[in-house]
Amino acid sequence: KPKAIVIGAGIAGIASAIRLAVKGYEVDIFEANSKPGGKLGEIKMNGFRFDTGPSLFTMPQYVDELFKLAGKNPEDYFEYIKLKEVCRYFYEDGLKLKATADLDNFAKDIEAKTSSTAAEVKHYLKKSETIYEVTHRVFLERSLHKLKSYLHWDTLKSIFRFGQIDAFRTQAKANHSFFKDERITQLFNRYATYNGSDPYQAPATLNVIPHFEYHFGAFLPKNGMYSIITALVKLAEELGIRFHYGQKVEEILYTNNGKPKIQGVKVNDKNYQADVVVSNLDIWFTYKNLLKNLPEPKKLLNQERSSSALIFYWGMDGNYSDLGLHNIFFSKDYQSEFNAIWKDKTICADPTVYINITSKHIRNDAPANSENWFVMINVPANNGQNWDQLIKEARANIIKKLNRILNRNIEKDIVSEQILDPRSIESKTGSYQGSLYGNSSNNQFSAFLRHPNFSSKVKNLYFCGGSVHPGGGIPLALLSAKIIDDDISSVVH
Ligand code: FAD
Repeated sequence: KPKAIVIGAGIAGIASAIRLAVKGYEVDIFEANSKPGGKLGEIKMNGFRFDTGPSLFTMPQYVDELFKLAGKNPEDYFEYIKLKEVCRYFYEDGLKLKATADLDNFAKDIEAKTSSTAAEVKHYLKKSETIYEVTHRVFLERSLHKLKSYLHWDTLKSIFRFGQIDAFRTQAKANHSFFKDERITQLFNRYATYNGSDPYQAPATLNVIPHFEYHFGAFLPKNGMYSIITALVKLAEELGIRFHYGQKVEEILYTNNGKPKIQGVKVNDKNYQADVVVSNLDIWFTYKNLLKNLPEPKKLLNQERSSSALIFYWGMDGNYSDLGLHNIFFSKDYQSEFNAIWKDKTICADPTVYINITSKHIRNDAPANSENWFVMINVPANNGQNWDQLIKEARANIIKKLNRILNRNIEKDIVSEQILDPRSIESKTGSYQGSLYGNSSNNQFSAFLRHPNFSSKVKNLYFCGGSVHPGGGIPLALLSAKIIDDDISSVVH
């Protein structure tokens, strides 16, 4: 049997391993942490359970596909529901909106409460759909870096329609032209943050993102986000994949005579041989630590990193009927919030606050009459800021804001607390500067050209995960594994 080694048990690493095992490879995964999942993690404290990273689950079919590939029924491994309510939005002026899966309803709510119309919302989402149609086969589902990708008829059709992807103005500018009411512009500008970017700099092509949420839907695994990982690990183990936890890979080994070819990896000074190696690490660390002697793609590695996050996991003693699973409390001045993050590399005094409460659906995630609050704000990637001070200030500002909008003293209900910040995101998940999605998409170059999923220098070396093509977030990380899978069939043997 040919052998494959995957470095890192993040979601894309596990997906790549499953695909290789299905192809007939003998697969080993080396993971630095003591458990799988990477950014998709879980903590438990004092009767509360929290998903530590992703909270919004879109495109579940990409997860299902892995079980089907292995001839299994996904529902035997994990279950999820489609959310009827997508998100609750709260504004400082008292406006409250509820985004529902029923779009007519959402558009009508916007028309009834703001100066924007239902027709504006529909028109915008139609544009979002067009961008998806033009981009998904070219930018998301195939390698941008292989000639054969461009020989498909549907790719060529998409290329002829590139004018429609709105790449030459910023998302904020485009959205301002779609909506009369600035608060609705703000609502849709927020989608730039789904890949850690700035709506005031990133191309309007990012308006494709709402299509995932409003067309395909928002979902929740019945046992929380981490059950995606436990289900995939179960499948992987059944396929004979061996997980080696607490095993940090030190070097990727390749032959150096003629065209370099992969040999394996080095872990704890021991060499492991493989025909194929897939690195699920942040591409920055892959080059800096594991491929020290290989020339780096400097331009790519020097791109601006995506934003990071500051998260408070709060066990709350009390019930908040105003809140749902996903809740956004918008800042008053969105542009200055992003200027603080991107220009001043700091946190403004009035950040937009996101609260995710899985116990609204998953009762066991919190004790009786309590809720598990995942409270997150977007912050810059780590450049050595004084985080202890910034965290202290942000915590006080978040509490003040929530007290103001919810008209309640929330601080007295906080009975347990843990904090994740850019420093700990880097140390716990191996993400350079704690950025959530690799490079930002704040300019056309970075939005469209991320590192390819294969090495052009070392034969049979591949890269998957949120820091490489096609991008960050669970669905795109899973697509990176699929692109590798498509390529390997034509390379090895
Ligand atoms: P990662 O999760 O980055 O895992 C990489 C793994 O490699 C880690 O387990 C690490 O320990 C391991 N590793 C590192 N170095 C080594 C080494 N030398 N040897 C062996 N192993 C090593 N996405 C969404 O879709 N929806 C969301 O709502 C969402 N919200 C997010 C919120 C937060 C706070 C965070 C942090 C991320 C969020 N994301 C979200 C992004 C999503 O989590 C990531 O894009 C995705 O999980 C990345 O997976 P990955 O496959 O790139 O691997």
